[in-house]
Amino acid sequence: MIEYENLARLNEPFFEDYKKAFSETLESGWFILGNKVKQFEEQYSDYCGIKHTIGVANGLDALTLSLKAFDFEKDSEVIVPSNTYIATVLSILHCGCRPILVEPDLETYNINPALIEEKITPKTKAIMVVHLYGKLCDMDKIEDIACRYGLKVIEDCAQSHGASYKGKRSGSFGDFGAHSFYPTKNLGALADAGAVTCRDDALDEKIRTLRNYGSTVKYYNDEVGYNSRLDEMQAAFLSVKLKHLNAINNHKRNLAALYNQGLNKEFIKPNVHADYYDVYHIYCIRHPKRDKLREYLLRNNIKTEIHYPVAPNKQKAMKGILDTQPTPIAEEIHRTALSLPVSFYHTLNDVEQVISVMNKF
Ligand SMILES: *Cc1c(COP(=O)(O)O)cnc(C)c1O
Repeated sequence: MIEYENLARLNEPFFEDYKKAFSETLESGWFILGNKVKQFEEQYSDYCGIKHTIGVANGLDALTLSLKAFDFEKDSEVIVPSNTYIATVLSILHCGCRPILVEPDLETYNINPALIEEKITPKTKAIMVVHLYGKLCDMDKIEDIACRYGLKVIEDCAQSHGASYKGKRSGSFGDFGAHSFYPTKNLGALADAGAVTCRDDALDEKIRTLRNYGSTVKYYNDEVGYNSRLDEMQAAFLSVKLKHLNAINNHKRNLAALYNQGLNKEFIKPNVHADYYDVYHIYCIRHPKRDKLREYLLRNNIKTEIHYPVAPNKQKAMKGILDTQPTPIAEEIHRTALSLPVSFYHTLNDVEQVISVMNKF
């Protein structure tokens, strides 16, 4: 059986270092907002090439606090890709803003910059871009639009740790980068964890305050804040894994290159372009008979996933909220997309096996 993912096997190379990090943190007796978080924040800032990192509880909070930091008035509009994971949309709703869906480019699966301007109104305040599957968005065009219309840019970097565009890393473009370290992500922790990156000192301070009850001095609350802190244990584990992130990404890129070479033309493969360093959080192909293909692979002991089976505006929770915005391109992706095994623990041989089975479909 070739599994889609196996978190124990994925983390096995780091077990010894995790155990050391666990003991150190346990024995320190300091579990919330201490040296481990501070150290990881510095390391991650260096890695992304940005001034500030603020550790938070998870990716959804990273998105929500980023948006919250601007205090947009109620019913402000925020542009977001129509095929994103639901978290991006939820963060907008949790801030009292309206998600305005923009369709993706069918080549890259990322927000199509050519479709953004027609959705901008006087109420538009920000663009939330999502670097889906580990490929960055076309940031030159997006920054140009944001600049011309005076919009804030927030990057959803949950799937793009270490990915870059024209040599610049994920999380270093927008006003904020929102990062998830959910265990399956390329830089995954051993529980929920997340971070916000930014370059502005005042915004850095704002997120630090918001994540900690709106407080900078213990028991004095300056803002209506949250409890959304990265804990010391996860920060210690993340510092261990960050040292190996480039190796993890390289391995996934090697597996992806093998798929790209080996798979028949009938499978629509991910776009590859010299400006983009993709990290393949997900290796997504498309096929008109996706469901049959998935069953066929399972019969041949190969597990796959679908990212995602239902578009955000078709979700039950979004009835009366998003379902008035038609998104045929997102729906086409949701109908045909299939994610193939591309974990750090999969071998080149595993992928060759998948290719050989797929080419007989
Ligand atoms: C995983 C993910 C999130 C949410 O992260 P959590 O840590 O699970 O809250 C947000 N956006 C995208 C695109 C994701 O893949």
